[in-house]
Amino acid sequence: MSTPTSATWSARAEGTWSAPGRVNLIGEHTDYNDGFVFPFAIEYRTSVDLAVRADGRIRVSSSFDPDPVEVALADLDDLFPGRRDEVVEWARYPLGVAWALLRATRRSAASVPGVDLVFRSDVPVGAGLSSSAAIEGATAVALNDVWGLGQDRVALAKVGRRAENEAVGAPTGIMDQMASLLGRTDAGTFLDCRTLDAEVTDLGFAPAGLELLVIDTRVTHAHSTGGYGERRAACERGAAIMGVPALRDLGVADLPRAQELMDDVTFRRVRHVVTEDQRVLDTVATLRADGPRAIGGLLDASHASMRDDFEISVPELDTAVEAARAAGAIGARMTGGGFGGAAIALVDAGLVADVTAAVEAAFAEAGFGAPHIFTVRPSEGARRDA
Ligand code: ADP
Ligand code: MG
Repeated sequence: MSTPTSATWSARAEGTWSAPGRVNLIGEHTDYNDGFVFPFAIEYRTSVDLAVRADGRIRVSSSFDPDPVEVALADLDDLFPGRRDEVVEWARYPLGVAWALLRATRRSAASVPGVDLVFRSDVPVGAGLSSSAAIEGATAVALNDVWGLGQDRVALAKVGRRAENEAVGAPTGIMDQMASLLGRTDAGTFLDCRTLDAEVTDLGFAPAGLELLVIDTRVTHAHSTGGYGERRAACERGAAIMGVPALRDLGVADLPRAQELMDDVTFRRVRHVVTEDQRVLDTVATLRADGPRAIGGLLDASHASMRDDFEISVPELDTAVEAARAAGAIGARMTGGGFGGAAIALVDAGLVADVTAAVEAAFAEAGFGAPHIFTVRPSEGARRDA
């Protein structure tokens, strides 16, 4: 059998692919407990123009950085994960996806053509909208098509996670990649983080005349990294005390026993995760039975649980949620890892201006910096555009 050489690929194949950022509707700190999450893809996207090149090299460039990064495909295996520090951080995302994709499909670098990848994006970075999943998803679908690898969306999500974990060095779950790759217009991705079973579920915001507001507080509190590690450790401790592999294996009915067996802080961490898993399930069931106007109480309860039991909210997030609700939001909660970042509010389209003004006023009154407030629409996942 002959291996295709670079000459095989000298014809220029070109195209444009894109993948979106995401917002998590509900299901926070449940992913690493093998539980449930319910994110949706948004209309902000990262696009990549791809051109095939005949020399077996991969070059990535981005509107983020004037300097492109170029390596031989055959050298990716030497770079990742051990020598990843030699690559500028942003380039580790797309190069890491190329590396992880070849590994996952057991393809040699010589069996695929070199590529030029040019990225542009309107996904705000670091606003909790997962610009990282967007660049990973765009890269993964583009390379999967052009390299003819035939991987399904779940496999591509795993490739994105591996790139982020091993090539970038960020210990993240798989929610963001699944949301970005599987999204559908006006739908969310209900995901079981243990089995990776995903159900794309109608949200029905548009027909109900609802908008989803993102309130980016623009604050990141210093203890976010340590706080995240402490929460993960508490969850592991709680699961060990209860003798289960993960908190996912507990239900609300197990909480009284948990309370007897553990200290108060550990118990409250456990109670957040267990009740949050239940709220995700309830949100999916409520959407199906009664539509999106009925999920407000679940969003509110999720916020209260993160504020009081998981203790990952901050005054800016609480202010955003309370002001949005007081101005007529159907429900509101902080979203993302906590200690800053963004809140979301489900709002009647006719109230968007009022809720926005109310939140801005509450921030000003509290002496906080102005938040960045905008709407997002549940949108289509990764795709080929041209
Ligand atoms: P987010 O919450 O936005 O996902 P992350 O820290 O996980 O924040 O990922 C952001 C990083 O992803 C950026 O700092 C950059 O390294 C990389 N990135 C995202 N989008 C792009 C892009 N269009 N071009 C280059 N790098 C990008
Ligand atoms: Mg990210």
